[in-house]
Amino acid sequence: MNAVVSYFKSLTLVELARGLQLTGRRMFDRKITIQYPEEKTPQSSRFRGLHALRRYANGEERCIACKLCEAVCPALAITIESAPRDDGTRRTTRYDIDLTKCIFCGFCEESCPVDSIVETRHFEYHGEQRGDLLMTKAKLLAHGDRMEAQIAADRAAEAKFR
Ligand code: SF4
Ligand code: SF4
Repeated sequence: MNAVVSYFKSLTLVELARGLQLTGRRMFDRKITIQYPEEKTPQSSRFRGLHALRRYANGEERCIACKLCEAVCPALAITIESAPRDDGTRRTTRYDIDLTKCIFCGFCEESCPVDSIVETRHFEYHGEQRGDLLMTKAKLLAHGDRMEAQIAADRAAEAKFR
């Protein structure tokens, strides 16, 4: 019986008519297609894009080399080495994030006690050579310097809702 109904439907083009009916109903609706990259969709202040290491206003790096982010990372994407400085504080001597392993879960950011490692809103990046997607400490700090104004503004906006 099902085969007969199916044959009848295909013969009378019922499915095609239904499809065209739906197209007709939506034809004059407001268009929601975005012409990327000229147009962009709104972005959350908690967007998880390219990582950055932040500094305090006096230029001192925030990271205290506690390695919580390295321990919590489910993808084992973070590699940290550390040593004490002359002033007795501990700082990283190596801080790498392998973006080819990272799954952008945000756990590193959540675990950091000093708001040092963050995921910024920047997502338009790519790599062309081996190593381009390995974020070293120098690259992470430089990216943090570039994005600090937006990071700080997002943190301030979020604080109002806590
Ligand atoms: S976002 Fe997740 S996977 Fe990526 S480095 Fe941080 S903890 Fe690891
Ligand atoms: S970025 Fe934060 S969690 Fe990771 S080692 Fe530095 S202080 Fe610790």
